[in-house]
Amino acid sequence: MRIAIVGAGLAGLTAAYELREHDVDVYEATDRIGGKLHTVAFEAGPTDMGAEAFLAHRADMVDFVAELGLTGSLVEPSGLGSLVYTGGSAKPLPRGGVMGIPSSGQAVAHLVSAETASRIDAESTAPGFTWDTEGDRSVGELVRARYGDEVADRVVSALLGGVYSCSADDLGVRATVPQLAAELDRLATGGAPVHLSTAVKNLEESRAQLAGTQGAVFNSFRDGYQELYEALAEQSGADIYVDSFISGITREGEGYRLTGGEDAVYDTVILAVPAPTAGMLLRAAAPEAASELAGIKLANSVVVGMRFATEEGLPHNSGVLIAADEEGLTAKAFTLSSRKWPHLAARGGALVRASFGRFGDDIALRADEDTLVDAALDDLHKVTGFDGRAAGLEEIYVQRWLGGLPRFDATHLSTVARVRARLAAVPGIDVVGAWVSGVGVPDVVAHARRVAADIAGA
Ligand SMILES: Cc1cc2nc3c(=O)[nH]c(=O)nc-3n(C[C@H](O)[C@H](O)[C@H](O)COP(=O)(O)OP(=O)(O)OC[C@H]3O[C@@H](n4cnc5c(N)ncnc54)[C@H](O)[C@@H]3O)c2cc1C
Repeated sequence: MRIAIVGAGLAGLTAAYELREHDVDVYEATDRIGGKLHTVAFEAGPTDMGAEAFLAHRADMVDFVAELGLTGSLVEPSGLGSLVYTGGSAKPLPRGGVMGIPSSGQAVAHLVSAETASRIDAESTAPGFTWDTEGDRSVGELVRARYGDEVADRVVSALLGGVYSCSADDLGVRATVPQLAAELDRLATGGAPVHLSTAVKNLEESRAQLAGTQGAVFNSFRDGYQELYEALAEQSGADIYVDSFISGITREGEGYRLTGGEDAVYDTVILAVPAPTAGMLLRAAAPEAASELAGIKLANSVVVGMRFATEEGLPHNSGVLIAADEEGLTAKAFTLSSRKWPHLAARGGALVRASFGRFGDDIALRADEDTLVDAALDDLHKVTGFDGRAAGLEEIYVQRWLGGLPRFDATHLSTVARVRARLAAVPGIDVVGAWVSGVGVPDVVAHARRVAADIAGA
């Protein structure tokens, strides 16, 4: 079987690895592999400018890393807590709750007004709401309706914005907090009204039962994600063509030919590209799926990596999120990487990643590098008191993620289901990647492996 994979990001490379017994060509538009996994050679050592960690509770991912021979490269975070900057100061980010959604007023009492804290506590005795076990709704809408705007803007949007580059209003519950959706489904079975605080409390209780049985929540790679994407590329044995932009797919006999690819007809084509690109590529071979894909929008973001000579004055925290309703700041979050990761602290000095950009904010497109670095330093000073200019800025890397992540809004999962249903009728074409599987590295890997295994078994 001759297989083409378009896109050498995590999904494409994972699929190539799973199909290593076959004749596979991988096409990558840019001059490097890895996609949103990008490890940059700082003088102090390799440093991730895209994804930096993965959920270590995902045993399937940990096993996959072992299969690739990389277990010895895994490192754990320090476990230091994070902060959220709201109301003009940085305060501890609550550890409980689900994606910043609390089960009690007490958990967020230091972040919200007394009125909001009481409202959260009263939620479980207020009339419940109807939860559609088939559909989805926006996280922001749900939290605003049950707890009020302060919780949505100061905590939930700050946390979700860090992960998804969108505000809580642009994200679906089922699409981004699936464990909460599953608990709401369970409570709603039989059609009874449900309460948000009850669902969150139940999830906290099941998490407490597991506490102590699991290690660190996150893992990372000592030398960055390049360890993973290089291992996948090498062990796949695939022919990987970089600087190869694929602009179309046409049917030829029983197979497909790629515009911009080798002079070959492929039995199977796997699209491992962002959703709008998949839409463009499917226009001729699967027009109905292509038009469904037009509904998926992308969010832009920027990461500014900064290395300082000294760590003195940097708070002992893993990171600082910035509340969505906070004015006068440009950044949305800081990862205090050398505090968060002991292996980075061991390099000496301080490493900080500033993140910018939420859906609808075009800073990633319009701001030049100097503006971004100045904003990163100014905002870091304001939220942490750490004066990066005085601390000796030794290295900077500005990474723009144009179309970095799909917007996982309340319609996302149904759109993906329709695309997949349309594609099921088109033999020899499959789709993988964050927009299909969910954004987390373990999700992208697990889905790409499943799709590849189905192709191999067909
Ligand atoms: C800033 C940032 C931080 C993140 N942090 C984390 C984290 O800490 N933990 C976590 O689990 N997840 C994180 N994620 C999410 C995770 O990185 C992504 O979900 C995942 O890497 C996506 O992989 P992918 O293969 O689906 O897509 P991509 O990485 O986007 O790969 C798609 C590839 O296709 C190529 N391509 C596009 N069009 C064409 C074409 N026409 N022809 C050929 N090639 C094409 C692209 O150049 C790209 O290389 C983060 C994402 C971002 C942006």
